[in-house]
Amino acid sequence: MRGAIVRALVIEGPRCGGVQEVAAPIPREGQLLVDVERVGLCGTDVELYTGEMAYFEQGLTHFPLRLGHEWTGRVSGVGPGTDPSWVGQRVTGDTMLGCGRCQLCLTNRHYVCPDRNEIGISDGWPGALAEQMLVAVRFAHPIPDTVSVTAAAMVEPGGNSLRAVQAAHLSAGGRLLVLGSGTIGLLAAQIGLARGLDVHVAGTRQSSLELARDLGIDHVYQVADLLADRGPRFDAVIDASSAQTMPGLAIDMVSPAGRVVLIGLSSVPSFIDTRALVLADITAVGILSASPGLQGTIDLFASGAVNPEPLVSEVIGLGQVTSRLEGRRGENAGPGPKVHVDPRK
Ligand SMILES: [Zn+2]
Ligand SMILES: [Zn+2]
Repeated sequence: MRGAIVRALVIEGPRCGGVQEVAAPIPREGQLLVDVERVGLCGTDVELYTGEMAYFEQGLTHFPLRLGHEWTGRVSGVGPGTDPSWVGQRVTGDTMLGCGRCQLCLTNRHYVCPDRNEIGISDGWPGALAEQMLVAVRFAHPIPDTVSVTAAAMVEPGGNSLRAVQAAHLSAGGRLLVLGSGTIGLLAAQIGLARGLDVHVAGTRQSSLELARDLGIDHVYQVADLLADRGPRFDAVIDASSAQTMPGLAIDMVSPAGRVVLIGLSSVPSFIDTRALVLADITAVGILSASPGLQGTIDLFASGAVNPEPLVSEVIGLGQVTSRLEGRRGENAGPGPKVHVDPRK
């Protein structure tokens, strides 16, 4: 008997992929079958599509690849022995699927488990750019009805941004500079505003900076202007860019005893002068993954404290995804940095 078939985006090799019919996933014990309703595309997807992501060299991922790690959908089935009350529940999920057995997993740090799968990124777990996907119950997060489908698919980037803002350790009125006006940067800025911080954003794309102003951020700069006027005048700086020189700029811009939060990734190594950290007693923090920030982000979106919807520029179908991964913007796309996909469109 022929099993059920679903449509999925399959990347066969660098810059080569399209929509294919694949076998519908079948949930095992402890797993949920999800009808995917919305998926976000991000820079990681672009690097996976082009083959430039470091995981290829490290042997952690291979073609063919099934992308998609910022997603939401509705549970349509459960595996054997799995609580059936999940069926019908709106969910999103963690990207980082730890082994569940090692010391890191057992201490809630599964997102750095050396034996983890990463949904839609590393080998072993197909992503959300498909009509259906699987997630393990222990990595699923229910979405309340007050969170829109658009916002629900922004929970994953939001969790990254929330962790970055938390790592900045500022109280109300603190001066925060966010480098980068992409999705992570703008969400961090919005979360900072919601916490009463004095938020400043620097970027390069004019439309994103205008959007930042529309989101209520009064202080926006072109990065070039900051480069020309370096100086320690912020209590904390978040680097949410992908530019090699930005970690160095972040350190130059933070006040003594301040904190630098590194969440952006350059495709080449960024080198910093550690004397600048030591001699000003600066704390530098790296942030990987949204995992411990997912629930807090759901709460921020559910309460209306942060509205991520203006960051989404368009909603496309599966068939248009590769054109966006190639860098083409939609003709009617809005100013936001985030492209969303409705796999059933
Ligand atoms: Zn991402
Ligand atoms: Zn583990």
